Amino acid sequence: MIKKLVILIFILFFISLQWYDLNSKTSNLPIDEPVIDEPIEEEIKYTIVIDPGHGPWVNNDVEPIAPGSDKMKRKYGVGTVGNTTGTMEREINLNVSLMLRDLLEKDGFIVIMTRTNHEVILSNIERVELANDNNADLMIRVHNDSHQNQSIHGASMLVPGDVGYASDIMDISRQYGEIILNTLVEEVGMSNRGIITRTDQTGFNWSKVPIMTVEMGFLSNPDEDRLLSTSEYQEKLAYALYKGILKCFNKKTLLNQIE
Ligand SMILES: [Zn+2]
Repeated sequence: MIKKLVILIFILFFISLQWYDLNSKTSNLPIDEPVIDEPIEEEIKYTIVIDPGHGPWVNNDVEPIAPGSDKMKRKYGVGTVGNTTGTMEREINLNVSLMLRDLLEKDGFIVIMTRTNHEVILSNIERVELANDNNADLMIRVHNDSHQNQSIHGASMLVPGDVGYASDIMDISRQYGEIILNTLVEEVGMSNRGIITRTDQTGFNWSKVPIMTVEMGFLSNPDEDRLLSTSEYQEKLAYALYKGILKCFNKKTLLNQIE
């Protein structure tokens, strides 16, 4: 009886050894890495909303400056004007925006314009809702600056602050804004006035997508006014903004092609 028991224990011990051996062999087998079918960065279709600032007249109707706010602001203004050339800001904003649209569309971006002429004019909230509704990857508002001091010149980038819907997109907006501004001043050669956080912009406070306003130069500065009014300089600006957007979305192949 004892002998049988010893044999049984021995058999059980032997089986458990085999089982252990088999398991350890199995665990040492090379595991096939699952092939993840990730889309290549270059193939992702990004949606960009371009907002050429202002319109041909002032719309004094008002809208809330932020979701849930009692503070009201007019729906849009007419913008500034070149103090030497008399060029309207809205013209330059639209020209550069249309050039930027063409460059991006050529590379497969989906581009939505808030206006393509001076007739159809949306309010600041309506413009941003275009971007929100289309779940845009970026909305860029194209503007020019003005100052009482005519010597002030250069480009700056306005970005949203911690207000309204913008709280969720302020960090990424700043990140993209820095990339685009740095590319702009590097490519075009104007002075860099830096990133400015603005909490008083209706267009920012209602945005659920990354958003920024590029101020490409001062129409109150005679030199910049003259430059901004030429189509050659406008083309340079559009190209630099395009390149900045390519950098935001890490479009390495396209960037290599144009370097
Ligand atoms: Zn403006």
